[in-house]
Amino acid sequence: MAVTSEATRPTTELRRFDRLFIGGEWVAPRSGRMIRSIEPATEEVWAEVAEADASDVDDAVKAAQAALRGKWSQITPTQRGELMLRLAALMRRDVDKLAEVESRDNGKPLRDTKGEIARAADWITFFAGAADKINGTQIPFRPDALAYTRREPLGVVGAILPWNSPISLCSWKLGPALAAGNTIVLKPAEQTPASLLALGKLVEEAGFPGGVVNVVPGYGEVAGAALVAHKGVAKISFTGDHRTAQKIMQSGAATLKRCTFECGGKSPYIVFADADIDKALTVALHSAFRSTGQSCSAGSRVFVERSIQREFAERMAERSLRIRLGNPLDPKTHIGPQTSAEQLAKTESYIALGREAGGHVLAGGKRPDSQPRGYFIEPTVFVDVENTSRLAREEVFGPVVAVMPFEDEDHAVSLANDTDYGLVGGLWTSDVTRAHRVAHRIEAGLVSVNTFRPVHWMLPYGGYKMSGIGRENSLEVLNEYTQTKTVVVELAIGAPADPFAD
Ligand code: NAD
Repeated sequence: MAVTSEATRPTTELRRFDRLFIGGEWVAPRSGRMIRSIEPATEEVWAEVAEADASDVDDAVKAAQAALRGKWSQITPTQRGELMLRLAALMRRDVDKLAEVESRDNGKPLRDTKGEIARAADWITFFAGAADKINGTQIPFRPDALAYTRREPLGVVGAILPWNSPISLCSWKLGPALAAGNTIVLKPAEQTPASLLALGKLVEEAGFPGGVVNVVPGYGEVAGAALVAHKGVAKISFTGDHRTAQKIMQSGAATLKRCTFECGGKSPYIVFADADIDKALTVALHSAFRSTGQSCSAGSRVFVERSIQREFAERMAERSLRIRLGNPLDPKTHIGPQTSAEQLAKTESYIALGREAGGHVLAGGKRPDSQPRGYFIEPTVFVDVENTSRLAREEVFGPVVAVMPFEDEDHAVSLANDTDYGLVGGLWTSDVTRAHRVAHRIEAGLVSVNTFRPVHWMLPYGGYKMSGIGRENSLEVLNEYTQTKTVVVELAIGAPADPFAD
């Protein structure tokens, strides 16, 4: 295992993000409590972050409701878009600062967090452009009436985020929510509470009216649950584990909450023998191990046509040894540690399960000797794994891939679809008709052919089956942040028919 640098102790003092962002003000949490955020590369507390409880969440929702009735509803959609463009420009200006906060919070290498935050600014830019293009329609349903629809905002949106890409995934929700005229309460994950507060500073600097964007870091069972249960929240936009989504659906039922869910995956990556194998190999490695496998769209099940499966797996194993594992703040680092001790333990438990079920590890499979501190685990390539085993069925969210053989096209599709998830599918072949045929048959919200998974603001993204409900990104997502009002105006004014006249 190549290593760029030893994980080092924090060189700076403990950072404090000790205020919540509510109603345009920086306020102390009512409980006075702080979340101690651990830097995964050093296992040291690097920041103390204000912890919101249910009463802080209530304050945030009320501030968001007041903003909705206030200045936010009085400015034009074009002005909303201008504010969003200002925010995007500030995010670009502060990419390095925001990336450092996020890398220290979740352990992702700076090269990744910088890229993600620059792209998050692009996401906001895209939706800024959409703000004044959300039109209703006129419906010619009677000659003597004018009927039209208005696409109105839902109200207050509660956005609940996971720890793997806080600012990036936040932009997927913030962009369309603001473009459509909603206000928003952002609840980052307790493992990575700091970076959205740093983003809140930029929201303030951009000049958004107070209360349009609020940031309340806190624990899921406390702050998250309070947001879901709150009567003043019109919609929950959630990214995270499907078991949490189930809880949100249950507790949201009491207030008939609108919900969209972006959950996990166990994404298939199919390689036919006629594919460009070198390219397929490079992308398979990227897909399985980028972000230490902590990606909902990780290609964690690689299906390779039997004639080339063993060689493909061996080459993948050999190439995985060249991945540089190290401190996220070192620009040469390819992958960092897992984000938390819990996630590391989960990954190790799945490696053990894979071995118990008869799987063989061709590379990795343990914590690296070179990293005495930090939640590091080596990229791990398994063979001899059954698609029915727990390793192949459950989301690991770590750098673990199973390379399995298939016999023919039907077999590949049936293996790929034999999963509870359906987020992303990858496919490599040089046969154009087969490419489309298989892409149509894969049960997933996004299928990529001969390329890395294309996640982009212009492309709808979301899951089939247990991977979620609803779509994010593209103009399609604006339907998830607006509600349609139908207005009918009588044009031929006369006495209305009186059904009770005789
Ligand atoms: P998680 O479900 O444990 O936590 C996600 C968020 O939900 C956190 O903010 C947490 O505090 C909050 N939460 C927890 N319990 C809650 C409750 N009872 N009520 C309200 N909120 C609650 O998920 P995680 O471990 O942070 O993230 C990893 C998961 O996210 C993986 O399954 C991954 O695949 C998924 N994910 C999906 C996408 C996507 O776009 N589909 C993107 C990234 C991550």
